[in-house]
Amino acid sequence: MGISQRAKEIPPFIAMDVLERAQELEAQGQDIIYLCVGEPDFNTPQCVKDAACRAMDENLTHYTHSLGIMPLRKAIAEYHKKRFDVEVDPARVMVTCGVSPAMLLLFSAMLEPGDEVIISDPAYACYDNFINFVGGVVVRVPVHEDDAFQFRPEEIEKRLSPRTKAILVNSPANPTGQLLSPERMQAIAELAPGTSGPPYVVSDEIYHGLVYEGEERCILEFTDNAFVLNGFSKIYAMTGWRLGYVIAPLHYVRPLQKMHQNFAICAPSLAQWAGVAALTDPRAQADVARMRERYNARRLRLVEGLKEMGLGIKVTPTGAFYVLARVDHIDPDDYRLAFDILEKTGVAATPGRDFGPGGHGYIRFSYANSLANIEEALKRLAAYLTQR
Ligand code: PLP
Repeated sequence: MGISQRAKEIPPFIAMDVLERAQELEAQGQDIIYLCVGEPDFNTPQCVKDAACRAMDENLTHYTHSLGIMPLRKAIAEYHKKRFDVEVDPARVMVTCGVSPAMLLLFSAMLEPGDEVIISDPAYACYDNFINFVGGVVVRVPVHEDDAFQFRPEEIEKRLSPRTKAILVNSPANPTGQLLSPERMQAIAELAPGTSGPPYVVSDEIYHGLVYEGEERCILEFTDNAFVLNGFSKIYAMTGWRLGYVIAPLHYVRPLQKMHQNFAICAPSLAQWAGVAALTDPRAQADVARMRERYNARRLRLVEGLKEMGLGIKVTPTGAFYVLARVDHIDPDDYRLAFDILEKTGVAATPGRDFGPGGHGYIRFSYANSLANIEEALKRLAAYLTQR
């Protein structure tokens, strides 16, 4: 009683339901291998932790500017110049408590009830919940396994309407681990031709830096009529620090800032100083390179092992740390199958339906876990399938 309709209607994040059931089983003594969540198993680079400790010792523990500390906003701008050769005025950068709150602020600032946002199907589970929560309408564009789950610009174009406020891209993508080609990014940018008006491209670049074949591209290389969402959770193994940012067209900064002032005041000060070290200390970059190498070895082994046991992976994923494997020949109900696998083998993976109707019939495996655990998971899965 007394709970808002909005709160009642928001669906659970199924990956978290799997995680919580797995934790229950673990507490009962079952040996669990966690391949369900998008959480790096590595530690945050030491130089990043040291920077936070130094900031604490120097008592940099107060509220910061609501847009973030200037050294971090400058470091973010410099990273984009160096990595993608795009000019970003630090005045366009707002530092947030992760990409998730940045997304909520952005869609709150952008959408009137009934305004549409185009997303891929499947896509990251929370996108439609953010959009729906603020009264927006999700327009899904199916992406196809044999096309590496890439957006087809012509399919987006068919769904553009006067209410389209944004096209949301995510490359490398969760849950598919696939990258959008530069040609398709260009074509999508051309569908958002304004200079500072809708439709915008909103580009969730949180998996940048976790690419094993090919190269990630920044949406700002193709258009300025765009928002970049990015953060430190994945590449720097900093999920718990809660640090991210949005790069917005200049006229959006003040509305976003006003909401941030009201709803968060600022991102955590120590995390912001840690973020400066993550972007500027060469030791952090060396640690990232080592993590990337290890993710890559896991990726190759997991894909090979899943294929050997007959799971469907038509195009090898090349980024992030996910494999989306087709399982409908084993059980048409991916939810039932994922939970059955969990109960019987202790391998926790996420049912594809968490990611939209297009995810039905798939299970997402995360390889943010050790090679030894991946080997063990493959062994258990093979035994489970033989038994079925
Ligand atoms: N965007 C995508 C595609 C994600 O997969 C995730 C987390 O899994 C997020 C955003 C949330 O990131 P953050 O930890 O910065 O809130």
